[in-house]
Amino acid sequence: MIVMKFGGSSVQDATAIRRVASIVASRLAERPLVVVSAMGGVTDKLVQVAEAASRSELSSALSIMDFIRAKHLKAASDMLDRSQSAVFEQDLDTVIAEATSLITQLAASRAATPAQHSQMLTYGEVLSSLLVTAAFSALNVPSAHADARALIVTDCRHPAASPLAPETRNKLLSVVPPLLEQKLVPVLGGFIASSESGEITTLGRGGSDYSAAIIGAALGAERIEIWTDVSGILTTDPRICPQARRIEEISFHEATELACFGAKVLHPATLLPAVEHDIPVAVLNSHRPTEAGTIIRAYAAHGPSAFRAIAVKRNISVFNVRAPRHVGSLRFLDDLFSLLRWHHLQSEIVAISGATASVALEGNRELVTLTSELEALGEVEFQPDMAIICLVGEDIRGRIGIASEVFGVLAGAGINIRMIAQGSSEISVSFVVEEKDAVRAVQQLHRHLFEQPAIATSHSSTSAQRETAQA
Ligand code: ADP
Ligand code: ASP
Ligand code: MG
Repeated sequence: MIVMKFGGSSVQDATAIRRVASIVASRLAERPLVVVSAMGGVTDKLVQVAEAASRSELSSALSIMDFIRAKHLKAASDMLDRSQSAVFEQDLDTVIAEATSLITQLAASRAATPAQHSQMLTYGEVLSSLLVTAAFSALNVPSAHADARALIVTDCRHPAASPLAPETRNKLLSVVPPLLEQKLVPVLGGFIASSESGEITTLGRGGSDYSAAIIGAALGAERIEIWTDVSGILTTDPRICPQARRIEEISFHEATELACFGAKVLHPATLLPAVEHDIPVAVLNSHRPTEAGTIIRAYAAHGPSAFRAIAVKRNISVFNVRAPRHVGSLRFLDDLFSLLRWHHLQSEIVAISGATASVALEGNRELVTLTSELEALGEVEFQPDMAIICLVGEDIRGRIGIASEVFGVLAGAGINIRMIAQGSSEISVSFVVEEKDAVRAVQQLHRHLFEQPAIATSHSSTSAQRETAQA
């Protein structure tokens, strides 16, 4: 069997859902299971609903819910005949009634608990999966809806719960194989799950990719396909560099590194279950289904450049903390990381030199409140409004002159580097620049590394340099 996941823009309206149906129809022989995101923009709207309801702005919350209802109904009436549409409308209204009751509770208590906030966000995938199932049946793709909230089991952490693999596997195995046996395409909402005690949870924003990988691993899928709005993983975000090119093959390690450092095309946790079960993942364009896309596998063929891609992560702050002379470095670092752990802050990159540690964290000016606590450990400098740029490529491992090449490009563009880190696996180089310089830095690096392949970046030059280094 294979798992096919369609993101928000791939199910944004009737035209998009029709395209999905024809893509799935072309794969029936491979026994697909389909995972769908909420219709494009719906999860953001649900965030607004939760916020408005918690401010007791009941009419504004309800009018956003009306918009969501109308969006689904319009798509349904564009694809279904009258009686099919009426059946869908009943399902729709059951879900809308549940959401409305939650809105009323939030408005009355003037707050949303993390669990209630998660629950509000799940309605997008609940509705889209019902809509897509109805559309598949109307478009002659035999299908059956399966409620992911009853099948994906997680812990109780909000807003991003972690899956419990054995429990999830047992539930999926009891429901999915019989549907596949009947030649039905199971359709599930991504992103949504629940805990063992039945509390509704989500896998974190962008988590439908993760759902696809969890399901693929649990059911031993032959392949996981992530269908999105670009033709695979590109050499960088095409919104920053329209010249970004498709990467044919990329390794699990490279793709994970890219996702962790901001390449939105994949949720950072997606590849974990796929790696553990060695399941290849393909990233494909639902708007252009015949294009080849990108294949992610354990070992990828060499690309035309030693670098595979550039990612950028905004909304970053850096703390530089200098230990007093009398404190040993081990104790200093131990205290520093205990403090971060206490605040549930995960360092994006860390650079330690002598008595100074620099830590880049996701978050901006609100992190300034950490300064006073860090001052108990030493002298502190706080730098908000930063971005991390990450260059990834297995072929940069052991290559001489990487740093000078990259930093030469940035120096030429007058861009100041605030912090540098090379991952211990040596497949990535990350550095921090001011957020205002991030787009220009990526564009300059992309031009140098991917748009002029003749300049010292080809794989052959890498091998040549390695040989020289070894000689
Ligand atoms: P979906 O709704 O299908 O999950 P996302 O919006 O989450 O889609 O991810 C796709 C988007 O990721 C693309 O439209 C693109 O702007 C962005 N993106 C960022 N970095 C990359 C990259 N290296 N390659 C491809 N897309 C990228
Ligand atoms: N709908 C969710 C979000 O917008 C999950 C996803 O699309 O992957 O974050
Ligand atoms: Mg996504």
